[in-house]
Amino acid sequence: MKKHTRLPEYLRVRLGGTASGEKVRELLTDLKLNTVCNGAKCPNRVNCFRAHTATFMILGRNCTRRCRFCAVGNGLPPEPVDCMEPERIAEAIERLNLDYAVITSVTRDDLPDGGANHFVRTVKAIHTKNPHTGVEVLTPDFNGNCECISSVLDAGIAVFNHNLETVSRLTPQIRNRAEYHKSLKVLEFAANYSNIPVKSGIMLGLGEYHDEIESAIRDLFNAGVKLLTLGQYLPPSQAHWPLARYVTPEEFDLWRDFALKLGFSAVASSPLVRSSFQAKELALAAGWKQSIL
Ligand code: SF4
Repeated sequence: MKKHTRLPEYLRVRLGGTASGEKVRELLTDLKLNTVCNGAKCPNRVNCFRAHTATFMILGRNCTRRCRFCAVGNGLPPEPVDCMEPERIAEAIERLNLDYAVITSVTRDDLPDGGANHFVRTVKAIHTKNPHTGVEVLTPDFNGNCECISSVLDAGIAVFNHNLETVSRLTPQIRNRAEYHKSLKVLEFAANYSNIPVKSGIMLGLGEYHDEIESAIRDLFNAGVKLLTLGQYLPPSQAHWPLARYVTPEEFDLWRDFALKLGFSAVASSPLVRSSFQAKELALAAGWKQSIL
């Protein structure tokens, strides 16, 4: 496979230090919290903090799976569930005055409920302290367990997000112990369960073909997904799945137009898009209303 060393100009983001970024970092250290924003060195974190949104990662840093694209899966044993974590996240949201937060986690195949109850406790703790903060969950597949998925959907969330990550053919090579159709079933179950908008995302640049991207977007739409994110895959290290290509901003625009024409409520599609990119804006586009919380 061709080696890509030079990052295109449109993917070079100046992170710079800002007072608000510094404040967030200090608070997270103080409250012993993990954010995907800092942990994954997300290129959009400065803008998200400025817009009063952030993504918190619960249930520890050690994932029970080892996906080939992911910076998180490090093979260490999963940590014990920290039962005070929901309260600390609620406090961080209050102190940062966030009006929208995304809660995600590593996959916890070691827990009987896959961590669903911890998601529920976190959403409830956030709303006890911050009744007007919208909470989006970005969950693992819970091994397709409908009880786990419905308990999270009943917790009072604004958006249910589960990423398809890649096209059908590449899933067995790239995602560990995950199945393309199982993820679609999770999304379909969530879409049929209630009116809560369902969201998903795909990374481009892993080696997928044009028709495979088209099929994946159609599959998501047919599963009832309303919100879609499409972003450029960037390998976290040389040991990860290699980059196949940089997808141009123009191609991302074409995929966004295709998805919107299909009927998605909102689509974020550009090289720097990640799952939580402009999460609040997408939720609003799907009908979530901040004032009714
Ligand atoms: S399951 Fe999720 S967190 Fe775990 S390695 Fe795969 S992508 Fe990363």
